[in-house]
Amino acid sequence: MFKKILIANRGEIACRIIRAARELGVKTVAIHSEVDKESMHVKMADESVCVGPASSSESYLNIPSIISAAEITGADAIHPGYGFLSENTYFAEVCETCGITFIGPKKHSIEKMGDKITARNLMIKSKVPVVPGSDGPISADDPKIFDMAEKIGYPVIIKATAGGGGKGMRVVVSPEALQNSIIMAQSEAKANFGNPDVYMEKYIEEPHHIEFQILGDMYGKVVYLPERDCSIQRRHQKLIEESPSSFIDESLRKKMGKAAQSAAQAVGYVTVGTVEFLVDKHSHFYFMEMNTRIQVEHPITEVVTGIDLVKEQIKLAAGEKLSFDSSNIKINGHAIECRINAEDPTKDFIPSPGKIGFLYLPGGPGIRVDTNVYSGYTIPPFYDSLIAKIIAHGADRQEAIVRMQRALKEIQIEGIRNTSSLYMKIMENKEFHKGKVCTDFLAKYIFNN
Ligand code: ADP
Repeated sequence: MFKKILIANRGEIACRIIRAARELGVKTVAIHSEVDKESMHVKMADESVCVGPASSSESYLNIPSIISAAEITGADAIHPGYGFLSENTYFAEVCETCGITFIGPKKHSIEKMGDKITARNLMIKSKVPVVPGSDGPISADDPKIFDMAEKIGYPVIIKATAGGGGKGMRVVVSPEALQNSIIMAQSEAKANFGNPDVYMEKYIEEPHHIEFQILGDMYGKVVYLPERDCSIQRRHQKLIEESPSSFIDESLRKKMGKAAQSAAQAVGYVTVGTVEFLVDKHSHFYFMEMNTRIQVEHPITEVVTGIDLVKEQIKLAAGEKLSFDSSNIKINGHAIECRINAEDPTKDFIPSPGKIGFLYLPGGPGIRVDTNVYSGYTIPPFYDSLIAKIIAHGADRQEAIVRMQRALKEIQIEGIRNTSSLYMKIMENKEFHKGKVCTDFLAKYIFNN
């Protein structure tokens, strides 16, 4: 096991990782930017190092500073969390060169799964179903794009090969809009990922976003855990996640789980990762992408399986063997997660940073809160707006919903706006109660557009 882990991240995930490390008896080093010195992850860690000014590019993405911090403090491993450097192959390589373990998969796995076209082509080879689409990047001035779209069938979706966070996507319903949408998607991709490449896929209508948590050890064993349903999204970004999915039965679970396992095996996957699929109304499923890191929504899997995924991730990176199989895993009840953001839901979700006055977060039976905020904390405007994840666990979906409603009513966050009122509306919605919600749920039933 490692002696000391440096956490190359901030916010709730940095706190989550410190908790896991502490339970494993491993010391922790927090890094922080100049504006984050009062952050909870800094207070929680055994040591902390300031790695630069507020801007992420000069602090949480500053590889030389982070590596120096690890060397000065004698950390033998770095946990990248999610976002920031978590899927950066260069960073994983630099860690390796410096003799520091990167707590994540090997560089080649990140590389293959990081580019959506490479991943798609690899999945086709491994017989994992993918959404029909182009087999390489496309360009607006290529006359063949019209035939291609016709053949795939409108609507199609243009997606960034380096995409993430729902950015760089455009749905196209007719040939007239095709060229323009490609150009717009390319410029969004260039601005967000530094890579303008985009490709074309069939747009699956009323799909469910279903993903499988996988774990792999260094000895070739890969297991999958029960699915998460992440269909409640705004602008292709997840807001609510559930496990298990009301749309998936045992036989589909097994089929998709095994496909996820094959996807991970195809890249020699080690540690934890997530294979994402779209499922259409006929229960046909298609590989969408693999995220080669721990995900925001991992706690719902933890509460229904009893497996501490962050501790497992650290143990697997340290070379321990996986001690269970997919067939040993039982689903205990139902879990729902709501991502509470410091945003104003009545003003188009504009970020609402600033000082939190009084703060009360919910608790009681079946409620877990993963957060980094506290009374008197000032949320800086420089980073993402996630401030707390509320996870409700019940014996069944109905109890999880009732507990979530109760928890949302308990939240008191003064001084800033937050999104809990939106979740309250969703929890009361009749269609949500029926389950089987698709990715257009929010637009259709909450925003009515
Ligand atoms: P990102 O990497 O930006 O998160 P994903 O490929 O994971 O992008 O897709 C995010 C979301 O976008 C999906 O959950 C789904 O709602 C929507 N989406 C992506 N591809 C398609 C598609 N082919 N058909 C319908 N919706 C899609």
